[in-house]
Amino acid sequence: MNYDHFFSTALQGLKTEGRYRIFAELERRAGEFPCATRYRADGTEDVTVWCGNDYLGMGQHPDVLAAMHAALDRCGAGAGGTRNISGTNHHHVLLERELADLHGKESALLFTSGYVSNMASLATLAAKLPDCVVLSDEMNHASMIEGIRHSRAEKQIFRHSDPEDLARRLAAIDPARPKIVAFESVYSMDGDISPIAEICDVADKYGAMTYLDEVHAVGLYGTRGGGISDRDGVAHRLTVIEGTLGKAFGVMGGYIAASSALTDFVRSFASGFIFTTALAPALAAGAVVSVRHLKQSTIEREQHQARAAQTKQRLLDAGLPVMPSASHIVPVLVGDPVLCRQVTDILLDRHGIYVQPINFPTVPRGTERLRLTPSPVHTDAQLDHLVNALSEIWSELRLKRAA
Ligand SMILES: *Cc1c(COP(=O)(O)O)cnc(C)c1O
Repeated sequence: MNYDHFFSTALQGLKTEGRYRIFAELERRAGEFPCATRYRADGTEDVTVWCGNDYLGMGQHPDVLAAMHAALDRCGAGAGGTRNISGTNHHHVLLERELADLHGKESALLFTSGYVSNMASLATLAAKLPDCVVLSDEMNHASMIEGIRHSRAEKQIFRHSDPEDLARRLAAIDPARPKIVAFESVYSMDGDISPIAEICDVADKYGAMTYLDEVHAVGLYGTRGGGISDRDGVAHRLTVIEGTLGKAFGVMGGYIAASSALTDFVRSFASGFIFTTALAPALAAGAVVSVRHLKQSTIEREQHQARAAQTKQRLLDAGLPVMPSASHIVPVLVGDPVLCRQVTDILLDRHGIYVQPINFPTVPRGTERLRLTPSPVHTDAQLDHLVNALSEIWSELRLKRAA
């Protein structure tokens, strides 16, 4: 077999469909977020990033940077081992305590990313609970889907954020079997928020445990940044809360928070936790400070929500098709992969605005979109520039405006 021929043909297919992924090569500039330097073959240019997940700009917070510098100088670059073999640093332990407290749980367990935390935890729980059935929301993130698949447990997909469909399915499963209901709080492509309390009601009724991905909500919602479960006062009802340190907390890493027995079980049986080098101590030290800061400071969350609301309104006023979103996410519908890439190419090349096109399989075909993430670090002038540029491009490409 000509292996490279196979690879090239598959890639050509993506290119023909207009969904070949091209990365923008950036250098974020600490202290100047959301501005970054973009590297091109023929030089560099300044761009404004409108699609980042460092939702609050915590990745440039002076206290976070100071903690990381200090830990780097004190502990060196890497952890030096897996958690089991010499790699458990004091900063990991502090961070796990901080995260358990954030969600009001007995314990928390760190992973190298949110993806790994979902993959490893769900794979382990669903594989080890005898004859387990996993009920998975149809819009769940790839990391949860992979974990469930890897467990080889029976999986049922329930209709998106639909407690009634979930209840029907649970009612038909042998009450003696262990069940996991896996879902998210903020769905990051449409920006909708799930009915956590209603889903917990159903799960409780049928004796299922609940696993909630709060990746796009931690740091951003609730009085202490514990996510939607914090905002809604329902954190205690969830068996597992999973989150990331790489989005609103601005650093890197993932975690679960749950009972001591559950986290100890995952710690002891999850391959994706055990057989990998621990997070760099400097990352853990930075995350501790970021989490602590957002527990007691609400100004970032308030500015974030205000900026998101203002961005939606300004785009709607300009007749742009903002998709309805209950959260800070601002999706703008294009509905075609080739046009979607064209919009973002023009934004970048002509206006210095960087927005990555969102295409299948991240979203269903025909719903290709821009996904804007306004933040406290975006200025009024940058918002004006964005709205004017988009409006101009919408006219030039004759794209559909809002009804
Ligand atoms: C980004 C994301 C993850 C993965 O988190 P990382 O820390 O980036 O690996 C998990 N779940 C959802 C819903 C996400 O959007």
